[in-house]
Amino acid sequence: MLSAAQTARLLPPPPLPARDLSAPILLSPPHLTGREIAVLEASLASGWLAPAGPAPRAFEAAFAEATGFAHVLAVASGTAALTLAFRVLDIGPGDEVWVPSFTFIASVAPAVQMGARPRFLDVCPESWTLDPALLAAELWQAARQSRLPKAVVAVDIYGQCAALRAIASLCAGYGVALISDSAEGLGASQSGLPAGRGAQLAAFSFNGNKIITAGGGGALASDDPGLIAHARTLADQARSPAPHYEHTSTGYSFGMSSLMAAVGFAQLAKLGERVAQRRAIFARYQEGLEDLPGISFMPEAPWGRASRWLSAMLIDPAGFGMDADGLRRVLAAEGIETRPAFKPLHMQPVFRDARCIGGSVAEALFARGLCLPSGSGLEQDAQHRVIRAIRAAARG
Ligand SMILES: *Cc1c(COP(=O)(O)O)cnc(C)c1O
Repeated sequence: MLSAAQTARLLPPPPLPARDLSAPILLSPPHLTGREIAVLEASLASGWLAPAGPAPRAFEAAFAEATGFAHVLAVASGTAALTLAFRVLDIGPGDEVWVPSFTFIASVAPAVQMGARPRFLDVCPESWTLDPALLAAELWQAARQSRLPKAVVAVDIYGQCAALRAIASLCAGYGVALISDSAEGLGASQSGLPAGRGAQLAAFSFNGNKIITAGGGGALASDDPGLIAHARTLADQARSPAPHYEHTSTGYSFGMSSLMAAVGFAQLAKLGERVAQRRAIFARYQEGLEDLPGISFMPEAPWGRASRWLSAMLIDPAGFGMDADGLRRVLAAEGIETRPAFKPLHMQPVFRDARCIGGSVAEALFARGLCLPSGSGLEQDAQHRVIRAIRAAARG
């Protein structure tokens, strides 16, 4: 039994008063629904804590319902979901995996760890996601030279879906597997379908900064029951059904715990509301800033509806009077957290030997992009503080 003092040490400090004008404003903190404790309590009372029992299965069913995927596996993180996606596609040494350069490293890191060679492709300015025309040209070349990739990873960025319908039909035409890294896309749609639909496998993340959180966690989704069944086995140490431990392969301990599933279940119920809140935040930034010279906002691609998970903008230093990193520092000094746009993977030291097709769009996004505080719980007062600080920086 913990003493009261020990328990207190496990709890976070009390939150700062909501109207404290100097309180830090974070990029994308978790937003509680008020239901998490009740669902957690019920889960604890059931006696199930491990990645087994009713909570992960209930979360999977709710997630399938929310996204339209027929089969869902709840796992420990988005990176775990991507690892399983590459494993069930049998990615290994000598294989190529193609991925947009403008993304988070987890989109491809597990494939690299399995021995695959990454090839990076540029993104298009209208969406900041994988350029389908560039992919078409590169697939055509690769087919002629008999060097098609084992898989393509399309990535949703800052709540905007990749052009998945076009990308899926290209990949299908060449018999190349397609994974959608939809870690940032949950709640957004493309061609009228939820993020990730149309890919063989889609990976999602419930990390604390994503649109909903399970206190970490992820999901792998597919319409193919065989792929998810295989991933489920790999996620549980690749045990074959036998009373003793029997293995024909090696796997992982990647299951989502019941506690995470309970929190995720409560959060998922609010997904629609969270999208509306994030879109409203984006619209307020646009309204409050778009008259400033040198500022432009991430476009919404014609094929989809973005969740605006992060509100992202571009800064042209010639017009604005300061570059994106300068603005990031000014805001940080005022307790406002922002984040530069992704440093393209082809510019990362770890990938210095990898091929990149194009890359100037990704490089320009990195040079000019900045993500603004976008948490769905961001109060209007706090958002106006951000807008005022940016306007003051522009004048200075
Ligand atoms: C967050 C994220 C991931 C990884 O998810 P984790 O749950 O943090 O492992 C993968 N890809 C992209 C694009 C992400 O934003």
